[in-house]
Amino acid sequence: GALTARDRVGIQDFVLLDETTEVAVISNLKKRFSKDLIYTYIGTLIVSVNPYKDLDIYSKKQMDVYMGVNFFELPPHIYALADNAYHTMLTEFNNHFILISGESGAGKTEASKKILQYYAVSCPSTTLMNTVRDKMLMSNPVLEAFGNAKTLKNDNSSRFGKYMDIQFDSQGDAVGGHILNYLLEKSRVVHQNHGERNFHVFYQLVEGGSDDLLTQLGLERDVQHYYYLTQGECAIVSSINDKNDWKSVKNALQVIEFDETNTNHLFRVVASVLHLGNVHFDPDSKGHALLKNNTELNWVSDFPSQLLGVDANSLKEGLTFRKIEAKTEQVLSPFTIDHAIYVRDALAKAIYGQTFTWLVNRINESMENKDSSRKTVIGLLDIYGFEVFYVNSFEQFCINYCNEKLQQLFIQLTLKAEQEEYEAEGIEWEPVQFFNNKIICDLVEEKHRGIISILDEECLRPGDATDLTFLERLEEKMGNHPHFVTHKLADKMTRKTLERGDFRLLHYAGEVTYCVVGKLDKNNDLLYRNITNLVCQSKNTIVRECFSAVDTTNKRRPETVATQFKNSLQKLTEMLMAKEAWYIRCLKSNESKQPGQFDEALIRHQVKYLGLMEHLRVRRAGFAYRRKYEDFLKRYKPLCPATWPHWRGIPADGVELLVQHLGYLPDEYKMGRTKIFIRHPRTLYATEDAYEKC
Ligand code: ADP
Ligand code: MG
Repeated sequence: GALTARDRVGIQDFVLLDETTEVAVISNLKKRFSKDLIYTYIGTLIVSVNPYKDLDIYSKKQMDVYMGVNFFELPPHIYALADNAYHTMLTEFNNHFILISGESGAGKTEASKKILQYYAVSCPSTTLMNTVRDKMLMSNPVLEAFGNAKTLKNDNSSRFGKYMDIQFDSQGDAVGGHILNYLLEKSRVVHQNHGERNFHVFYQLVEGGSDDLLTQLGLERDVQHYYYLTQGECAIVSSINDKNDWKSVKNALQVIEFDETNTNHLFRVVASVLHLGNVHFDPDSKGHALLKNNTELNWVSDFPSQLLGVDANSLKEGLTFRKIEAKTEQVLSPFTIDHAIYVRDALAKAIYGQTFTWLVNRINESMENKDSSRKTVIGLLDIYGFEVFYVNSFEQFCINYCNEKLQQLFIQLTLKAEQEEYEAEGIEWEPVQFFNNKIICDLVEEKHRGIISILDEECLRPGDATDLTFLERLEEKMGNHPHFVTHKLADKMTRKTLERGDFRLLHYAGEVTYCVVGKLDKNNDLLYRNITNLVCQSKNTIVRECFSAVDTTNKRRPETVATQFKNSLQKLTEMLMAKEAWYIRCLKSNESKQPGQFDEALIRHQVKYLGLMEHLRVRRAGFAYRRKYEDFLKRYKPLCPATWPHWRGIPADGVELLVQHLGYLPDEYKMGRTKIFIRHPRTLYATEDAYEKC
């Protein structure tokens, strides 16, 4: 017999599935994936499965198709979501954000870029505004060059968190943009695990920079020559074309109006990091560190190129001695080789990290909209995804904590708030059970008791605090927590033993074993004062600007890295809670980045921990549309003779008349205490159409 559309392409909205079992959901995803249909709805939420191949669904023609069309009339697409958010923003004059989540390599960054393109291409525009748009688009290649890297999970993995506001004026023109960046994984500058690379920009410069430029910067055209580029033993990757990417970055820098001085100084920072990495040390007779030779150091310092433009002797001294200020004299205490390497790496990380922030600030200035008229925004949140490696360190701890926070936000806004609203409005409701990961967020961030607090305490404790004493403290205080696995428990229950120096957390997305080595240092993130003083006097304007902004006279201890990160996430959450949310949940189709492969077990795991089944159950039983009676009446009363032009009774009665007039059946809507609830938005969107026409 003839196949129905449902047989051929599956169901495009999970809410319409006959049964809400995990099996049915996964088989529908699989069926659609095999037809290259990577998007499926749960109501207005999009589930996206990474196809690992280019699909012909992002053309201008496709954008036009989705523009201004009702959400459910066309096949699911992120353009539909983008368009829906946009039109809601315009009609309601409110702020929105799109939360894009999923583990590393699931497709978050690609989705966010495609949405930005959609707005850039399809919103109305003037020539003036075109330049703002180009700048918004071009901020991407620049930030990716400096903030993305090849990891084992993703050849273009975002190593910083990014939230971008797109600002619209009341006509719906995209008129400005602003980026907030979160915790860059600086440690990558000086160390990469096997199979991973440093940030793209280093390879791009060495591979793509002109002969002249490389000569000026004292660089060899050979990535293998640089210690900071080769630890992962995969400097050259077939999927990455560093030479071409370098051209795009240079072009993008022009579009965002970087002048020659800035561009020049930016490249010098990149080059000086490479030179620093090649500064090596030999031991003297007492085992103290001596510079192997001066060539690299000379490139970094004032001669001959002024890459950083700092005094060569002071830099040399800073890398090999610690200056201790005693009462009447200065004492120089020599470093061991390990210590010298540590200081060298700390300097490289600091200048790169500061430069990244500087870059974001410059980009923001260039995208800034200076006119003061009222604007609304759509925010795009694309933050590093949950990740588990063979060895997980401070960075994975922060990244995975961040993902717990986003999951918590999702739960708060959908599962929890949704169900609480039904209760508050007196709507009959069968509660849907779900796992609330708040317990894990608390474990990490709770004041005085959480892991971050304990880490900070150890960082502050003078004397003998080490990574291992931190671990002892943790085991003492967290030993009984259901999501914290101590050594004792690990052996007894999970039978997966922990190495000395490890602890394990049971995250919402899976268990991760963290190694404590280096945690205290990374959390403190301090530079010795003589080094800081040195870079404050740098002739490189970027470096000088960055470091003089860090107030060295301030004697108060700066906040630790983890605490700063925690506070910035708290602020982000509060800011997002005040906006209307849209969701894209990205799924990874397989671990080997292969096109067309649908790894069912992997998908099932993600469907589970992302809470998709629970979300589906709430959506299915619930009401996709709700409005306060007053607002609903105001908006739709022209459609019903009984309520138009003046309704004099109580609003709820007017709304009831109105919905009945519009042909809604009794079980399609519910009257709450203050709001009308309508089950399927489909019918209402048709009404919206009628409204637009009247
Ligand atoms: P994440 O940001 O979630 O870590 P990315 O968005 O960087 O992941 O995606 C990883 C890789 O997967 C991309 O470099 C690309 O090769 C592929 N990919 C992701 N989304 C798509 C898509 N919609 N179409 C084609 N390929 C995609
Ligand atoms: Mg990414």
